[in-house]
Amino acid sequence: MVLIQFVYFAAAVLFILGLKRMSSPKTARSGIVWAGAGMLLATLITLVHPGMGNYLLILIALGVGSYVAWASGRKVAMTDMPQMIAIYNGMGGGAAACIAAVELLKGSTHGASGALLGALGALIGAVSFSGSVIAWAKLDGRMKKAVRFAHQQRLNLAVFALALLLGLCVVLQSHPGAFTIVAFFLAALAFGVLMALPIGGADMPVVISLFNAFTGLAVAFEGFVLQNAAMIIAGTVVGAAGTLLTQLMAKAMNRPIRNVLFSHFGASAGGAAEETVSGSLKASEPMDAAVQMCYAAKVIIVPGYGLAVAQAQHKVWELAELLEERGVEVKFAIHPVAGRMPGHMNVLLAEAGVPYDKIFDLDEINNEFASTDVTLVIGANDVVNPVAKTNPDSPIYGMPILNADQSKQVLVVKRGQGAGFSGIENHLFYLDHTRLVYGDAQKVVAELISHVKTL
Ligand code: NDP
Repeated sequence: MVLIQFVYFAAAVLFILGLKRMSSPKTARSGIVWAGAGMLLATLITLVHPGMGNYLLILIALGVGSYVAWASGRKVAMTDMPQMIAIYNGMGGGAAACIAAVELLKGSTHGASGALLGALGALIGAVSFSGSVIAWAKLDGRMKKAVRFAHQQRLNLAVFALALLLGLCVVLQSHPGAFTIVAFFLAALAFGVLMALPIGGADMPVVISLFNAFTGLAVAFEGFVLQNAAMIIAGTVVGAAGTLLTQLMAKAMNRPIRNVLFSHFGASAGGAAEETVSGSLKASEPMDAAVQMCYAAKVIIVPGYGLAVAQAQHKVWELAELLEERGVEVKFAIHPVAGRMPGHMNVLLAEAGVPYDKIFDLDEINNEFASTDVTLVIGANDVVNPVAKTNPDSPIYGMPILNADQSKQVLVVKRGQGAGFSGIENHLFYLDHTRLVYGDAQKVVAELISHVKTL
């Protein structure tokens, strides 16, 4: 038993050190390996825990789970990563809820406080599971982004109240019947679905991060029920990290977190789509764009989701190096929610070898656009849409954006008239000093490179 507790402690230390290393792009990869080693240790030592049985079933489950995770993790495209995170996160919540279901049914939750923690973990885990499945379906394009109907908030509150009530019944009965437990879980699952349904467009990352925090909490509560130190520590760490990330993302998108829970999210979506935009779209050839950048003193590159789709990060860095050789100052500006997951652009640029001192966050660089000759927007849309500052009816109103519109010239690389994730028109593209260089980012940047070489 002492050995088991010691190994759980070692696993928890590995989780925390791994998480610490994930806070810097330089050490993030090794951080994942450390945390993974902790998880492996915790899983293996659990197998020799007193009272363990059903080894055949456990081994089959471990084998199937490991294979599915390995196979899907190997082939998932970088752009599909948010869906994968959503579904894996949901499974963590679902697993915690399953543990709670078994312990509550067995009546082995160690008294009233154990039953309370078990039921809380069940509620949060079940909400995280069903909500994450909806988030996955939305991000994977399998269902409409936002589903709204009349009296939705009232219904959400009613279902939440029902789940709480049934949870209370489960806690207060020393041996709750299967019917009460099943009803409790159904209400919790329904609330997760209802909670995620109305949330759409640009607000999705906050929700995924919130469900991640929920899963952590659920695991920690079930850790108390099972008296498993590794689960308590790992769950608390995930819950705390998820909560902080949720707060940071909500701040970055200017969406109050309470609206996530009560479906006010993006309630004004849609109005801005029909809004008339003054000005016209003006195309430019790669050759002209290359000339503008070559003779600029300073260029800021703003990467977005389209860069990830086109996998143009290596080419973009090659272009930046060529410009620097000509004496042009080049910086990269990263919006906190550019791409489809937090840190998406940082990961891509790091993969291409862009030095960290050339990559700047929104707060660090936003004042520099006004003194920049050319801003090159590659596959980014919502994160540079000035409507977020000017139109209170816009679904992205209030979201801090990169001030690309303030630079002297703006070049936008995109394939056609495609909208951004939030589905609204971008006023930046219609400004007098904006030119659109149409085409796939990989192809256009390759052309820019070949023209820069000839100039
Ligand atoms: P957007 O999704 O707003 O815009 C992407 C643009 O890229 C589109 O306008 C598209 O236009 C263009 N594009 C797509 N494919 C290519 C290609 N192969 N070559 C060139 N261009 C291409 O991206 P942003 O990064 O600006 O904004 C991210 C959005 O995603 C925000 O609304 C954010 O809230 C949301 N989001 C972010 C998450 C995160 O955690 N980072 C998670 C979930 C959502 P066209 O079709 O014309 O080429």
